[in-house]
Amino acid sequence: MDVALATAWLRAAAAAVVDDTDELTRLDAAIGDGDHGVNMRRGFTAVTAVLDGTEFTGVGEVFVKAGGTLISKVGGASGPLYGSAFRAVGKALPPGAQVRPTDLVTALRAGLEAVRRLGGAVAGDKTLVDAFGPAVAAFEEAVLGGAGLPEAAAGAARAAGDGARNTVALTARKGRASYLGERSAGHQDPGATSTWLIFQALADVTAP
Ligand code: ADP
Ligand code: MG
Ligand code: MG
Repeated sequence: MDVALATAWLRAAAAAVVDDTDELTRLDAAIGDGDHGVNMRRGFTAVTAVLDGTEFTGVGEVFVKAGGTLISKVGGASGPLYGSAFRAVGKALPPGAQVRPTDLVTALRAGLEAVRRLGGAVAGDKTLVDAFGPAVAAFEEAVLGGAGLPEAAAGAARAAGDGARNTVALTARKGRASYLGERSAGHQDPGATSTWLIFQALADVTAP
């Protein structure tokens, strides 16, 4: 992955979030406060603007900048969570204009770890961790098995999608949805759904 591909990923993620704002908001209206789509749109629109106005020499810088922007622009829980994740991804990457798939494995692991540390959610708590975790595991397995970035990204997107759909059955134990207790079951988690969009965007921009 080079700087151009990193920025293309974030732009594709932004476009997907803007397209699906209403769907993300509808999901959050069912088990939260109905602002996830608007939060994500605000954050990723700001990320796009920052990318437009910045020259990057390293891939890591792109993600650090995007993360900082999400933290400062999004008031909801998802801003600090995604922001910390992207910052951790960027900081874990080696310096330079090009990083390898194995570097991305380490970086995505660091991103997931940042979310877990900040939010305290574990697998099964019905949060974005339930899409992020399987996505990183699938990405890692593919890369360790010798796959290139396109194949690894496609596997990660599939795993994130499965993970997001699997949140329907879960009862929320973290975030606003946890206030509903068992009434949160039967609805797909909005954050897991936006995580799926983000990994699908990576698969889309890397597809041969
Ligand atoms: P808010 O809940 O502050 O309105 P959003 O609606 O933007 O923020 O984001 C809600 C999403 O954030 C949830 O669907 C869930 O996936 C994620 N989330 C909330 N709390 C946590 C947490 N502690 N750990 C991981 N993800 C969380
Ligand atoms: Mg919300
Ligand atoms: Mg909110």
